[in-house]
Amino acid sequence: MAERPYIVGNWKMNGTRTMLSEARAIDRAAQRYMKVEVALAPPATLIHAVHKEAEQIGIGAQDCHPGEFGAHTGDVSAAMVADAGAKFVILGHSERRGGHGESNALIKQKIESALAAGLRIILCCGEDLATRDAGSAEDFVVEQLTASLPDIADAAERLTVAYEPIWAIGTGRTAGAGDIAAMHEAIRALLVKTYGKQQGGEVRILYGGSVNSDNAREILAIGEVGGALVGGASLTAENFLGIVVGASEAMES
Ligand code: PEP
Repeated sequence: MAERPYIVGNWKMNGTRTMLSEARAIDRAAQRYMKVEVALAPPATLIHAVHKEAEQIGIGAQDCHPGEFGAHTGDVSAAMVADAGAKFVILGHSERRGGHGESNALIKQKIESALAAGLRIILCCGEDLATRDAGSAEDFVVEQLTASLPDIADAAERLTVAYEPIWAIGTGRTAGAGDIAAMHEAIRALLVKTYGKQQGGEVRILYGGSVNSDNAREILAIGEVGGALVGGASLTAENFLGIVVGASEAMES
C-alpha cells in the first residue's frame, strides 16, 4: 500500500446543507488518523460550505466542464470549482461516462483544463460485467486510460487513478483480491510506461466499488492499492470513518 492511503468519499447527487454536520464530523475525526489522507467530493452546491468547515480533509468536485467559461448552461468550469474551494476533481466516473455519454477524449480535455486550473485529478476507469466475463477487463481499462491520460510532463504529480469495476459500484459486490491486484498491476505498468519509473511509480491507484468498513482493511492490504474511492458508505460519518479506521489499521499490519 502507498505510504499514506488516500480515502475519498464521493457524495454524488446527495446532500443539502443539513449534511454539513456529517462533513464536520468526518473532518474532526480525520484529525485523529493523520496517517490516512481523507477527502470528500460533495455536490457542487456544497463545495464552498464544506470547504469552510474543513480543517483537515481535502475537498474536491465530482466533475467540471472542459471549457474555461461561456455559454454552457448548467455547467461549471474547473476554475469555478477551484474558486469554491475544491483542490481536486473526480473525472471519468462511470456514472458520467454512462449517464452523460462522456468519451475518453472529452475526459482528457477535462483533465487538461483541471490541471490548468491548479486542481489535482482523480481519474476513474473500470469495465462492465460483460467485459469482465469476456476476459478482457485489463485490456479495456488500459485502453481507457491510454486514451485519457494527460501528456503534460508533470501531470503525474497531480494524478490519482481510481479503478472502479462498474458492476461493483453500489451493488454490494466487490472484485476478488486477485482481480484487484492484477488490474492495479496493469495500471501501474501503464503509468510507468507513460510517466517513467519514478513519477509513474508514485501515482496512487485507488480501488472503488462497494468498499465499506467490513471489507476496507482487506482491500487496502492488496499490493498497489493506495486507497479507496467510496460512494454510498461515505454519506455518513459513522460508515466513512469505519473505512478510515480500516485504512489506518491496514497501515499498521
Ligand atoms: C463510486 O461510485 O465511486 C463508488 C465507489 O460507489 P459505491 O462505494 O457506492 O460502490
